[in-house]
Amino acid sequence: MEVKYFQPAIETAARATLTQLQLARMQTQLRELLATNAFYQKKLRAAGFTDAREFKSLDDLARLPFTRKQELVDDQAAHPPFGSNLTYALDHYIRHHQTSGTTGKPLRWLDTRASWDWWKRCWGAVYRAASVDKSDRIFFAFSFGPFIGFWSAWAGAEEIGALCISGGAQDSLARLKNILELGATVICCTPSYALHLAEVAQKENLDLRASAVKKIIVAGEPGGSIPGTQTRMQDAWNATVFDHTGATEIGAHGFTCLAQRGVHLNEGEFIIEVIDPVTGKNADEGELVITNLGRIGSPNLRYRTGDQVKLNRAPCECGRTFARMEGGIIGRIDAMLIVRGVNIFPSALEAIVRAYPEAQEFAVEIFRANELDELELKIEIAAPNAEMIADKIARDAHQRLGLRVLVRIAPNGSLPRFELKARRVNDRRKM
Ligand SMILES: [Zn+2]
Repeated sequence: MEVKYFQPAIETAARATLTQLQLARMQTQLRELLATNAFYQKKLRAAGFTDAREFKSLDDLARLPFTRKQELVDDQAAHPPFGSNLTYALDHYIRHHQTSGTTGKPLRWLDTRASWDWWKRCWGAVYRAASVDKSDRIFFAFSFGPFIGFWSAWAGAEEIGALCISGGAQDSLARLKNILELGATVICCTPSYALHLAEVAQKENLDLRASAVKKIIVAGEPGGSIPGTQTRMQDAWNATVFDHTGATEIGAHGFTCLAQRGVHLNEGEFIIEVIDPVTGKNADEGELVITNLGRIGSPNLRYRTGDQVKLNRAPCECGRTFARMEGGIIGRIDAMLIVRGVNIFPSALEAIVRAYPEAQEFAVEIFRANELDELELKIEIAAPNAEMIADKIARDAHQRLGLRVLVRIAPNGSLPRFELKARRVNDRRKM
């Protein structure tokens, strides 16, 4: 395993060195925010924090207030169109993006030239960890709408000198033809879309396994860290899958390395905390809270990501000292389903279904029947012994979740496919 880094000294730094670096950058950031960022001035002052010099060690993080998505949404509504989380005058900003709005009103975000350079560095770390370099041709199977992930992934790829190929304004077949004809070696997309492309290729008799594609970098859903989903992508493409995590309002924070043992969090550019979402106290497993360090023009301090993670701080085989999320992002805390008293993340259901290569696509329905919650898995199973596989999946689910699950075979091609974020769960109890 020949390990490649983007910033070797930082990625392999001893914990004490990393802490010093984070502290110094945090102090610089707080000084600027307290001087000119209306949103954080108000929040920090309300928490009794008025002078950056009071931030003496990372323990002082606990004195700073959390930032929640709803506050940002409310702030943008109160100060349209961009909100008040801006440290500089508007003419310092060069890019506007917005969230996909899968969970409500889209959030708008501006970046300065310096913070865009920071995005490129963060993505540089993602690519280098996957050993992607200037010899690679990266195909971006994206629509290139206003979502920051598309553009930052592209900018970061330019930064490392790779050849960037846009998959915008193309249907799946056109994308596949481009991937094959242009000799793309790396694909960036969501896990669901990587599988969808493989399905289309199979229908069209295109041989993906013989293509030049050697790596798939996925983001947007937990699939990249779900073993069954990962194996399925690797088999279909004959390529290695790398998971990446990030969000518009915080940055590109996580990546898998060649060791493929969890998702590293980029502690050179972010401060990571994990808390119990109810008590707010530090925990090893719980909600990921992130402070970014290089986006001073539109920062985010102690952001409650809403993502459930399990942290592993043990050193990694790749030599990086950055902590890892075991199994990547386990799920959205607010997407956790409670069915007959059992807590289930949709990723757990995906892990069960994807263990069966014959299972093509699936959807989850939760409803109430005779005063009882029922969880039904609708699965497209492309095999003559579909009934038998459905029974096995039902048994697995019962064993692993401790819950009886109804499994129904759906006609092939009847369930929706997703290009961006898959929405496979329909909780009818809420209607
Ligand atoms: Zn590693």
